[in-house]
Amino acid sequence: MRSAFVSALVLPLLASAHGPRQHHGRADASSIVASAASSVVASSAASSVAASASVTGSGSVSGSTATSVAASTTQTLTFTLASTNPTAVPLSLIASGAPIQSTSALTTTWAAGAKPTVFAGAPGLPNAAALNPKDYPTLDKTPPLDSPEVQQWIQEVKNSGIDIPGFAPTNLGGCANNTAAAADASRCWWTCGGCTRQSDITTCPAKNTWGLTYDDGPSPYTPDLMAYLEAHDMRSTFFVVGSRAISRPAMLQDEYMMGNQIAVHTWSHPYMTTKTNEEIIAEFGWTKKIIKDALGVTPLYWRPPYGDIDDRVRAIGMAMNLIPILWTRISATQTFDTGDYDIAGGLTTSTQVLNNWDSIMNNSTKIDTGFIVLEHDLFQQTVDIAVGYILPEALAHQPALNITPVITCQNMPMSNAYVETNDNSTNPLPAPATSGNSSASGSASATGSAAGASKNGASGTAFVNTGLVSAAVAFAASAGALFL
Ligand SMILES: [Zn+2]
Repeated sequence: MRSAFVSALVLPLLASAHGPRQHHGRADASSIVASAASSVVASSAASSVAASASVTGSGSVSGSTATSVAASTTQTLTFTLASTNPTAVPLSLIASGAPIQSTSALTTTWAAGAKPTVFAGAPGLPNAAALNPKDYPTLDKTPPLDSPEVQQWIQEVKNSGIDIPGFAPTNLGGCANNTAAAADASRCWWTCGGCTRQSDITTCPAKNTWGLTYDDGPSPYTPDLMAYLEAHDMRSTFFVVGSRAISRPAMLQDEYMMGNQIAVHTWSHPYMTTKTNEEIIAEFGWTKKIIKDALGVTPLYWRPPYGDIDDRVRAIGMAMNLIPILWTRISATQTFDTGDYDIAGGLTTSTQVLNNWDSIMNNSTKIDTGFIVLEHDLFQQTVDIAVGYILPEALAHQPALNITPVITCQNMPMSNAYVETNDNSTNPLPAPATSGNSSASGSASATGSAAGASKNGASGTAFVNTGLVSAAVAFAASAGALFL
Protein backbone atom coordinates (compact mmCIF):
# COMPACT_ATOMS: atom_id res chain seq x y z
CA MET A 1 0.00 0.00 0.00
CA ARG A 2 1.05 3.54 -0.58
CA SER A 3 2.01 5.79 2.21
CA ALA A 4 1.62 9.23 0.76
CA PHE A 5 -0.75 11.34 2.76
CA VAL A 6 -3.40 13.05 0.75
CA SER A 7 -4.39 16.38 2.13
CA ALA A 8 -7.87 17.56 1.43
CA LEU A 9 -6.71 20.83 -0.05
CA VAL A 10 -3.25 20.22 -1.43
CA LEU A 11 -4.31 18.60 -4.63
CA PRO A 12 -3.83 20.16 -8.00
CA LEU A 13 -5.82 23.31 -8.25
CA LEU A 14 -7.39 23.31 -11.59
CA ALA A 15 -8.24 26.47 -13.32
CA SER A 16 -11.91 26.43 -14.02
CA ALA A 17 -13.62 28.86 -16.26
CA HIS A 18 -17.31 28.61 -15.70
CA GLY A 19 -18.72 29.83 -18.92
CA PRO A 20 -22.17 29.34 -20.30
CA ARG A 21 -24.08 26.49 -18.79
CA GLN A 22 -23.78 24.19 -21.73
CA HIS A 23 -20.03 24.35 -21.72
CA HIS A 24 -18.77 24.89 -18.26
CA GLY A 25 -16.34 22.50 -16.76
CA ARG A 26 -16.53 21.11 -13.28
CA ALA A 27 -12.98 21.32 -12.16
CA ASP A 28 -12.24 21.78 -8.55
CA ALA A 29 -13.75 24.85 -6.94
CA SER A 30 -10.86 24.93 -4.51
CA SER A 31 -8.97 26.95 -7.08
CA ILE A 32 -11.18 29.78 -6.04
CA VAL A 33 -10.28 29.33 -2.43
CA ALA A 34 -6.60 29.15 -3.11
CA SER A 35 -6.62 32.35 -5.07
CA ALA A 36 -7.85 34.59 -2.33
CA ALA A 37 -7.43 35.19 1.33
CA SER A 38 -10.02 33.68 3.61
CA SER A 39 -11.11 36.69 5.47
CA VAL A 40 -14.67 37.67 4.98
CA VAL A 41 -17.18 37.54 7.73
CA ALA A 42 -19.75 35.05 6.61
CA SER A 43 -22.65 35.61 8.86
CA SER A 44 -25.19 38.32 9.21
CA ALA A 45 -28.71 38.71 10.44
CA ALA A 46 -31.02 37.03 8.01
CA SER A 47 -33.62 39.69 8.59
CA SER A 48 -31.73 42.00 6.30
CA VAL A 49 -32.25 39.72 3.38
CA ALA A 50 -35.82 40.37 2.42
CA ALA A 51 -35.50 44.04 3.13
CA SER A 52 -32.63 44.41 0.71
CA ALA A 53 -34.72 43.46 -2.26
CA SER A 54 -36.25 46.38 -4.02
CA VAL A 55 -37.66 45.78 -7.44
CA THR A 56 -40.40 43.45 -8.45
CA GLY A 57 -38.78 40.71 -10.44
CA SER A 58 -39.92 39.08 -13.59
CA GLY A 59 -41.41 36.16 -11.76
CA SER A 60 -40.12 32.73 -11.10
CA VAL A 61 -39.32 30.39 -13.88
CA SER A 62 -40.58 27.14 -12.48
CA GLY A 63 -37.27 25.60 -11.82
CA SER A 64 -35.80 26.25 -15.22
CA THR A 65 -32.14 27.04 -14.98
CA ALA A 66 -31.50 27.82 -18.60
CA THR A 67 -32.53 31.37 -18.01
CA SER A 68 -29.72 33.81 -18.55
CA VAL A 69 -30.51 36.15 -15.74
CA ALA A 70 -27.77 38.66 -15.41
CA ALA A 71 -26.21 38.58 -12.01
CA SER A 72 -26.60 42.29 -11.72
CA THR A 73 -30.34 42.20 -12.25
CA THR A 74 -32.07 43.35 -9.15
CA GLN A 75 -34.83 40.99 -8.20
CA THR A 76 -37.09 40.37 -5.32
CA LEU A 77 -38.34 37.23 -3.80
CA THR A 78 -41.74 36.25 -5.09
CA PHE A 79 -42.64 34.66 -1.78
CA THR A 80 -42.04 35.16 1.91
CA LEU A 81 -39.38 33.10 3.56
CA ALA A 82 -40.88 31.16 6.43
CA SER A 83 -37.54 30.52 8.04
CA THR A 84 -33.89 31.26 7.53
CA ASN A 85 -30.77 30.24 9.31
CA PRO A 86 -29.79 32.92 11.87
CA THR A 87 -26.23 32.68 10.59
CA ALA A 88 -27.18 32.76 6.92
CA VAL A 89 -24.90 34.61 4.55
CA PRO A 90 -26.89 37.59 3.19
CA LEU A 91 -28.32 36.90 -0.23
CA SER A 92 -26.44 39.86 -1.65
CA LEU A 93 -23.21 38.07 -0.77
CA ILE A 94 -24.28 34.80 -2.36
CA ALA A 95 -23.30 35.87 -5.81
CA SER A 96 -20.75 35.48 -8.54
CA GLY A 97 -17.44 36.84 -7.35
CA ALA A 98 -18.61 36.81 -3.77
CA PRO A 99 -15.99 37.35 -1.08
CA ILE A 100 -14.30 34.15 -0.13
CA GLN A 101 -15.27 32.73 3.22
CA SER A 102 -13.14 30.60 5.41
CA THR A 103 -13.92 26.92 5.15
CA SER A 104 -14.55 24.48 7.96
CA ALA A 105 -12.38 21.51 8.69
CA LEU A 106 -13.88 18.09 8.80
CA THR A 107 -15.34 17.49 12.23
CA THR A 108 -14.48 13.82 12.15
CA THR A 109 -11.80 11.76 10.50
CA TRP A 110 -12.37 8.05 10.59
CA ALA A 111 -9.87 5.37 11.43
CA ALA A 112 -9.23 2.54 9.06
CA GLY A 113 -11.46 -0.39 9.95
CA ALA A 114 -14.33 1.71 11.26
CA LYS A 115 -17.72 0.49 10.12
CA PRO A 116 -20.88 2.49 9.48
CA THR A 117 -23.58 2.00 12.06
CA VAL A 118 -26.55 2.93 9.91
CA PHE A 119 -26.56 -0.42 8.15
CA ALA A 120 -25.20 -3.89 8.73
CA GLY A 121 -22.74 -5.96 6.81
CA ALA A 122 -20.42 -3.25 5.54
CA PRO A 123 -16.70 -3.95 5.57
CA GLY A 124 -14.34 -1.76 7.61
CA LEU A 125 -13.16 1.51 6.11
CA PRO A 126 -9.96 1.44 4.08
CA ASN A 127 -7.16 3.76 5.12
CA ALA A 128 -7.89 7.03 3.31
CA ALA A 129 -4.36 8.28 3.84
CA ALA A 130 -3.04 5.35 1.84
CA LEU A 131 -4.84 6.43 -1.32
CA ASN A 132 -2.53 8.03 -3.83
CA PRO A 133 -3.80 10.14 -6.72
CA LYS A 134 -0.91 8.80 -8.78
CA ASP A 135 -2.72 5.48 -8.87
CA TYR A 136 -5.71 7.08 -10.59
CA PRO A 137 -6.27 8.82 -13.91
CA THR A 138 -5.65 12.50 -14.51
CA LEU A 139 -8.25 14.63 -12.79
CA ASP A 140 -11.15 16.01 -14.81
CA LYS A 141 -10.35 14.17 -18.01
CA THR A 142 -11.99 11.05 -19.39
CA PRO A 143 -9.57 8.29 -18.38
CA PRO A 144 -7.47 6.57 -21.05
CA LEU A 145 -8.85 3.35 -22.46
CA ASP A 146 -5.68 1.28 -22.62
CA SER A 147 -5.22 0.62 -18.91
CA PRO A 148 -5.70 -2.95 -17.61
CA GLU A 149 -8.51 -1.70 -15.43
CA VAL A 150 -10.55 -0.19 -18.26
CA GLN A 151 -9.85 -3.15 -20.50
CA GLN A 152 -11.19 -5.47 -17.79
CA TRP A 153 -14.33 -3.37 -17.34
CA ILE A 154 -14.92 -3.34 -21.10
CA GLN A 155 -14.75 -7.13 -21.07
CA GLU A 156 -17.13 -7.30 -18.13
CA VAL A 157 -19.66 -5.14 -19.95
CA LYS A 158 -19.41 -7.46 -22.94
CA ASN A 159 -19.93 -10.45 -20.68
CA SER A 160 -22.88 -8.90 -18.87
CA GLY A 161 -25.34 -10.08 -21.47
CA ILE A 162 -26.89 -6.63 -21.57
CA ASP A 163 -27.46 -5.35 -25.08
CA ILE A 164 -25.90 -1.94 -25.69
CA PRO A 165 -27.85 0.03 -28.34
CA GLY A 166 -25.76 1.11 -31.30
CA PHE A 167 -26.56 4.81 -31.23
CA ALA A 168 -23.71 7.05 -32.24
CA PRO A 169 -22.43 9.46 -29.60
CA THR A 170 -24.14 12.85 -29.72
CA ASN A 171 -22.43 16.12 -30.51
CA LEU A 172 -21.77 18.67 -27.82
CA GLY A 173 -24.40 21.37 -27.87
CA GLY A 174 -27.48 19.49 -26.75
CA CYS A 175 -30.73 19.09 -28.63
CA ALA A 176 -30.20 22.00 -31.01
CA ASN A 177 -26.98 20.50 -32.26
CA ASN A 178 -28.38 16.97 -32.54
CA THR A 179 -31.70 17.35 -34.30
CA ALA A 180 -31.90 13.78 -35.59
CA ALA A 181 -30.96 12.21 -32.27
CA ALA A 182 -33.25 14.55 -30.39
CA ALA A 183 -36.17 13.51 -32.63
CA ASP A 184 -35.38 9.80 -32.33
CA ALA A 185 -37.78 8.60 -29.65
CA SER A 186 -36.16 5.16 -29.62
CA ARG A 187 -33.06 6.73 -28.12
CA CYS A 188 -35.03 7.97 -25.10
CA TRP A 189 -32.72 10.92 -24.52
CA TRP A 190 -33.83 12.63 -21.33
CA THR A 191 -32.16 15.89 -22.25
CA CYS A 192 -34.39 16.30 -25.29
CA GLY A 193 -37.96 15.65 -24.24
CA GLY A 194 -37.61 14.16 -20.80
CA CYS A 195 -37.97 10.52 -21.85
CA THR A 196 -37.45 8.07 -19.00
CA ARG A 197 -37.37 4.31 -18.71
CA GLN A 198 -38.72 2.22 -15.89
CA SER A 199 -35.24 1.89 -14.43
CA ASP A 200 -34.87 5.65 -13.96
CA ILE A 201 -35.55 7.01 -10.49
CA THR A 202 -37.07 10.48 -10.81
CA THR A 203 -39.30 10.81 -7.76
CA CYS A 204 -39.84 9.47 -4.28
CA PRO A 205 -43.01 7.37 -4.05
CA ALA A 206 -44.58 9.07 -1.02
CA LYS A 207 -46.01 12.57 -1.28
CA ASN A 208 -44.28 15.28 0.76
CA THR A 209 -41.06 13.28 0.68
CA TRP A 210 -37.91 14.95 -0.63
CA GLY A 211 -35.07 12.78 -1.86
CA LEU A 212 -32.25 15.16 -0.93
CA THR A 213 -29.25 15.19 -3.26
CA TYR A 214 -26.02 17.15 -3.68
CA ASP A 215 -23.78 16.78 -6.72
CA ASP A 216 -20.19 17.42 -7.81
CA GLY A 217 -18.39 17.20 -4.46
CA PRO A 218 -16.77 16.59 -2.14
CA SER A 219 -15.56 20.17 -2.05
CA PRO A 220 -14.00 22.50 0.54
CA TYR A 221 -17.54 23.63 1.39
CA THR A 222 -18.99 20.17 1.95
CA PRO A 223 -18.15 20.18 5.69
CA ASP A 224 -20.39 23.23 6.17
CA LEU A 225 -23.25 21.41 4.52
CA MET A 226 -22.51 18.27 6.51
CA ALA A 227 -22.55 20.23 9.75
CA TYR A 228 -25.99 21.61 8.98
CA LEU A 229 -27.35 18.22 7.99
CA GLU A 230 -25.99 16.61 11.12
CA ALA A 231 -27.32 19.39 13.35
CA HIS A 232 -30.79 18.74 11.98
CA ASP A 233 -30.52 14.96 11.81
CA MET A 234 -30.81 14.91 8.04
CA ARG A 235 -29.05 12.75 5.49
CA SER A 236 -28.54 13.18 1.75
CA THR A 237 -27.48 11.34 -1.35
CA PHE A 238 -24.11 12.65 -2.52
CA PHE A 239 -23.37 12.14 -6.21
CA VAL A 240 -19.62 12.40 -6.15
CA VAL A 241 -17.23 13.12 -9.00
CA GLY A 242 -14.36 10.63 -8.99
CA SER A 243 -11.80 13.39 -9.47
CA ARG A 244 -13.11 15.08 -6.32
CA ALA A 245 -13.26 11.83 -4.37
CA ILE A 246 -9.56 11.03 -4.85
CA SER A 247 -8.86 14.65 -3.93
CA ARG A 248 -10.74 14.38 -0.60
CA PRO A 249 -11.19 10.75 0.40
CA ALA A 250 -11.45 11.58 4.12
CA MET A 251 -14.38 13.86 3.36
CA LEU A 252 -16.02 11.12 1.33
CA GLN A 253 -15.57 8.76 4.26
CA ASP A 254 -17.23 11.25 6.61
CA GLU A 255 -20.23 11.60 4.28
CA TYR A 256 -20.58 7.83 4.17
CA MET A 257 -20.03 7.18 7.88
CA MET A 258 -22.57 9.81 8.87
CA GLY A 259 -25.27 7.87 7.07
CA ASN A 260 -25.42 9.62 3.76
CA GLN A 261 -25.77 7.67 0.52
CA ILE A 262 -22.76 7.80 -1.79
CA ALA A 263 -23.41 7.45 -5.50
CA VAL A 264 -21.52 7.87 -8.79
CA HIS A 265 -21.40 11.12 -10.78
CA THR A 266 -18.63 10.04 -13.23
CA TRP A 267 -14.89 10.68 -13.18
CA SER A 268 -14.68 13.94 -15.16
CA HIS A 269 -18.29 15.14 -15.37
CA PRO A 270 -18.80 14.96 -19.15
CA TYR A 271 -21.95 14.92 -21.20
CA MET A 272 -22.13 11.15 -21.20
CA THR A 273 -24.12 10.79 -24.45
CA THR A 274 -21.21 12.47 -26.27
CA LYS A 275 -18.81 9.74 -25.20
CA THR A 276 -18.02 6.41 -26.86
CA ASN A 277 -19.02 3.18 -25.15
CA GLU A 278 -15.46 2.63 -23.96
CA GLU A 279 -15.14 6.17 -22.63
CA ILE A 280 -18.41 5.78 -20.73
CA ILE A 281 -17.09 2.55 -19.21
CA ALA A 282 -13.89 4.32 -18.15
CA GLU A 283 -15.85 7.19 -16.56
CA PHE A 284 -18.02 4.76 -14.61
CA GLY A 285 -15.32 2.29 -13.74
CA TRP A 286 -12.80 4.69 -12.21
CA THR A 287 -15.49 6.45 -10.18
CA LYS A 288 -16.74 3.15 -8.81
CA LYS A 289 -13.16 2.17 -8.07
CA ILE A 290 -12.17 5.26 -6.10
CA ILE A 291 -15.37 5.03 -4.07
CA LYS A 292 -14.73 1.34 -3.38
CA ASP A 293 -11.11 2.08 -2.53
CA ALA A 294 -12.10 4.83 -0.10
CA LEU A 295 -15.19 3.25 1.47
CA GLY A 296 -14.88 -0.47 0.95
CA VAL A 297 -18.24 -0.60 -0.80
CA THR A 298 -19.27 -0.13 -4.43
CA PRO A 299 -22.16 2.21 -5.21
CA LEU A 300 -25.15 0.86 -7.13
CA TYR A 301 -26.63 4.20 -8.16
CA TRP A 302 -25.50 7.08 -10.33
CA ARG A 303 -26.63 10.41 -11.69
CA PRO A 304 -25.71 11.56 -15.20
CA PRO A 305 -24.04 14.99 -15.25
CA TYR A 306 -26.50 17.51 -16.72
CA GLY A 307 -29.05 14.68 -16.73
CA ASP A 308 -27.52 13.63 -20.03
CA ILE A 309 -28.69 10.04 -20.45
CA ASP A 310 -30.06 8.00 -23.32
CA ASP A 311 -30.64 4.29 -23.82
CA ARG A 312 -27.00 3.63 -24.79
CA VAL A 313 -25.68 5.30 -21.65
CA ARG A 314 -28.41 3.65 -19.57
CA ALA A 315 -27.50 0.21 -20.85
CA ILE A 316 -23.79 0.63 -20.18
CA GLY A 317 -24.61 1.83 -16.69
CA MET A 318 -26.84 -1.18 -16.12
CA ALA A 319 -24.13 -3.51 -17.43
CA MET A 320 -21.89 -2.03 -14.73
CA ASN A 321 -24.60 -2.30 -12.07
CA LEU A 322 -25.38 1.40 -11.96
CA ILE A 323 -29.02 2.46 -11.67
CA PRO A 324 -29.79 6.04 -12.75
CA ILE A 325 -31.25 8.67 -10.46
CA LEU A 326 -32.37 11.89 -12.16
CA TRP A 327 -34.49 14.66 -10.70
CA THR A 328 -38.19 15.33 -10.89
CA ARG A 329 -39.50 16.85 -14.10
CA ILE A 330 -43.08 17.87 -14.72
CA SER A 331 -42.48 19.54 -18.06
CA ALA A 332 -39.67 21.11 -20.06
CA THR A 333 -39.93 24.28 -18.01
CA GLN A 334 -40.90 22.69 -14.72
CA THR A 335 -37.91 20.70 -13.64
CA PHE A 336 -36.91 20.36 -10.01
CA ASP A 337 -33.56 22.05 -10.60
CA THR A 338 -32.79 24.92 -8.25
CA GLY A 339 -30.26 26.40 -10.67
CA ASP A 340 -27.89 26.86 -7.74
CA TYR A 341 -24.88 25.85 -9.82
CA ASP A 342 -25.19 28.93 -12.00
CA ILE A 343 -24.80 31.48 -9.21
CA ALA A 344 -21.03 31.12 -9.11
CA GLY A 345 -20.74 31.71 -12.84
CA GLY A 346 -23.01 34.74 -12.75
CA LEU A 347 -25.69 33.12 -14.89
CA THR A 348 -28.33 33.42 -12.21
CA THR A 349 -28.80 35.04 -8.82
CA SER A 350 -29.41 33.70 -5.37
CA THR A 351 -32.80 35.42 -5.37
CA GLN A 352 -33.72 33.66 -8.60
CA VAL A 353 -32.63 30.35 -7.11
CA LEU A 354 -34.92 30.90 -4.14
CA ASN A 355 -37.75 31.77 -6.49
CA ASN A 356 -36.97 28.56 -8.35
CA TRP A 357 -37.15 26.75 -5.04
CA ASP A 358 -40.57 28.24 -4.33
CA SER A 359 -41.74 27.09 -7.75
CA ILE A 360 -40.46 23.62 -6.99
CA MET A 361 -42.44 23.60 -3.78
CA ASN A 362 -45.56 24.75 -5.63
CA ASN A 363 -45.02 22.15 -8.34
CA SER A 364 -44.57 19.44 -5.74
CA THR A 365 -48.22 19.89 -4.80
CA LYS A 366 -49.25 19.07 -8.38
CA ILE A 367 -47.92 15.53 -8.33
CA ASP A 368 -49.03 12.49 -6.38
CA THR A 369 -45.52 11.51 -5.38
CA GLY A 370 -42.60 12.95 -3.53
CA PHE A 371 -39.78 14.56 -5.44
CA ILE A 372 -36.05 14.78 -6.07
CA VAL A 373 -34.30 18.16 -6.47
CA LEU A 374 -30.99 19.03 -8.14
CA GLU A 375 -28.53 20.87 -5.89
CA HIS A 376 -24.75 21.00 -5.59
CA ASP A 377 -22.09 21.09 -2.89
CA LEU A 378 -19.24 22.20 -5.17
CA PHE A 379 -19.31 25.95 -4.60
CA GLN A 380 -19.44 28.25 -1.62
CA GLN A 381 -22.54 29.85 -3.11
CA THR A 382 -24.42 26.57 -3.52
CA VAL A 383 -23.72 25.53 0.07
CA ASP A 384 -24.49 29.01 1.43
CA ILE A 385 -27.92 29.07 -0.17
CA ALA A 386 -28.65 25.50 0.91
CA VAL A 387 -27.80 25.92 4.59
CA GLY A 388 -28.90 29.55 4.85
CA TYR A 389 -32.21 29.40 3.07
CA ILE A 390 -33.39 26.31 1.22
CA LEU A 391 -32.94 23.78 4.00
CA PRO A 392 -34.34 26.04 6.75
CA GLU A 393 -37.28 26.82 4.49
CA ALA A 394 -37.82 23.14 3.83
CA LEU A 395 -37.71 22.33 7.53
CA ALA A 396 -40.42 24.93 8.16
CA HIS A 397 -42.59 23.70 5.30
CA GLN A 398 -46.21 22.84 5.97
CA PRO A 399 -47.15 20.10 5.62
CA ALA A 400 -43.87 18.79 6.98
CA LEU A 401 -41.49 17.28 4.47
CA ASN A 402 -39.84 13.94 5.04
CA ILE A 403 -36.29 14.65 3.89
CA THR A 404 -34.14 11.58 3.21
CA PRO A 405 -31.49 10.15 0.91
CA VAL A 406 -32.94 8.82 -2.34
CA ILE A 407 -32.35 5.17 -1.39
CA THR A 408 -34.36 5.75 1.79
CA CYS A 409 -37.24 7.46 0.04
CA GLN A 410 -37.43 4.44 -2.25
CA ASN A 411 -38.31 2.46 0.90
CA MET A 412 -35.06 0.59 0.82
CA PRO A 413 -32.41 0.19 3.52
CA MET A 414 -29.13 2.06 3.09
CA SER A 415 -27.44 -1.32 2.61
CA ASN A 416 -29.14 -1.55 -0.79
CA ALA A 417 -27.10 1.41 -1.99
CA TYR A 418 -23.98 -0.75 -2.38
CA VAL A 419 -23.16 -3.93 -4.26
CA GLU A 420 -21.54 -5.67 -1.30
CA THR A 421 -24.46 -5.14 1.06
CA ASN A 422 -27.41 -5.07 -1.31
CA ASP A 423 -30.25 -7.49 -0.65
CA ASN A 424 -30.35 -9.20 -4.01
CA SER A 425 -33.63 -10.91 -3.23
CA THR A 426 -35.53 -7.63 -3.01
CA ASN A 427 -33.36 -5.40 -5.18
CA PRO A 428 -31.96 -7.56 -7.98
CA LEU A 429 -28.77 -6.27 -9.52
CA PRO A 430 -29.15 -5.05 -13.10
CA ALA A 431 -26.30 -7.21 -14.35
CA PRO A 432 -26.15 -10.24 -12.07
CA ALA A 433 -24.01 -12.20 -14.48
CA THR A 434 -21.30 -9.58 -14.84
CA SER A 435 -17.93 -11.22 -14.84
CA GLY A 436 -15.06 -11.70 -17.16
CA ASN A 437 -13.91 -14.79 -15.32
CA SER A 438 -16.98 -16.76 -14.44
CA SER A 439 -15.40 -20.05 -15.47
CA ALA A 440 -13.08 -20.00 -12.50
CA SER A 441 -15.10 -21.43 -9.66
CA GLY A 442 -13.59 -23.33 -6.76
CA SER A 443 -13.25 -20.93 -3.87
CA ALA A 444 -15.84 -18.56 -5.20
CA SER A 445 -18.76 -19.75 -3.11
CA ALA A 446 -16.76 -19.71 0.10
CA THR A 447 -15.52 -16.18 -0.40
CA GLY A 448 -18.98 -15.18 -1.49
CA SER A 449 -20.33 -16.32 1.86
CA ALA A 450 -17.62 -14.52 3.73
CA ALA A 451 -18.64 -11.33 2.01
CA GLY A 452 -22.03 -11.60 3.64
CA ALA A 453 -23.87 -11.78 0.38
CA SER A 454 -27.52 -12.59 0.31
CA LYS A 455 -28.22 -16.24 -0.29
CA ASN A 456 -31.78 -15.63 -1.26
CA GLY A 457 -31.31 -14.99 -4.92
CA ALA A 458 -29.44 -17.32 -7.20
CA SER A 459 -28.63 -14.53 -9.59
CA GLY A 460 -27.37 -12.29 -6.85
CA THR A 461 -25.20 -14.99 -5.39
CA ALA A 462 -23.81 -15.70 -8.82
CA PHE A 463 -22.86 -12.08 -9.26
CA VAL A 464 -21.07 -11.82 -5.96
CA ASN A 465 -19.24 -15.04 -6.51
CA THR A 466 -18.11 -14.26 -9.99
CA GLY A 467 -17.16 -10.76 -8.99
CA LEU A 468 -14.90 -12.09 -6.31
CA VAL A 469 -13.41 -14.58 -8.69
CA SER A 470 -12.78 -11.74 -11.07
CA ALA A 471 -11.07 -9.80 -8.33
CA ALA A 472 -9.01 -12.79 -7.32
CA VAL A 473 -7.83 -13.37 -10.85
CA ALA A 474 -6.92 -9.75 -11.26
CA PHE A 475 -4.98 -9.81 -8.02
CA ALA A 476 -3.15 -12.95 -8.98
CA ALA A 477 -2.13 -11.30 -12.20
CA SER A 478 -0.77 -8.37 -10.20
CA ALA A 479 -2.97 -6.09 -12.16
CA GLY A 480 -3.81 -4.24 -8.99
CA ALA A 481 -7.26 -3.63 -10.33
CA LEU A 482 -9.66 -5.16 -7.91
CA PHE A 483 -13.04 -4.45 -9.32
CA LEU A 484 -16.37 -5.54 -8.05
ZN1 LIG B 1 -22.95 17.48 -11.75
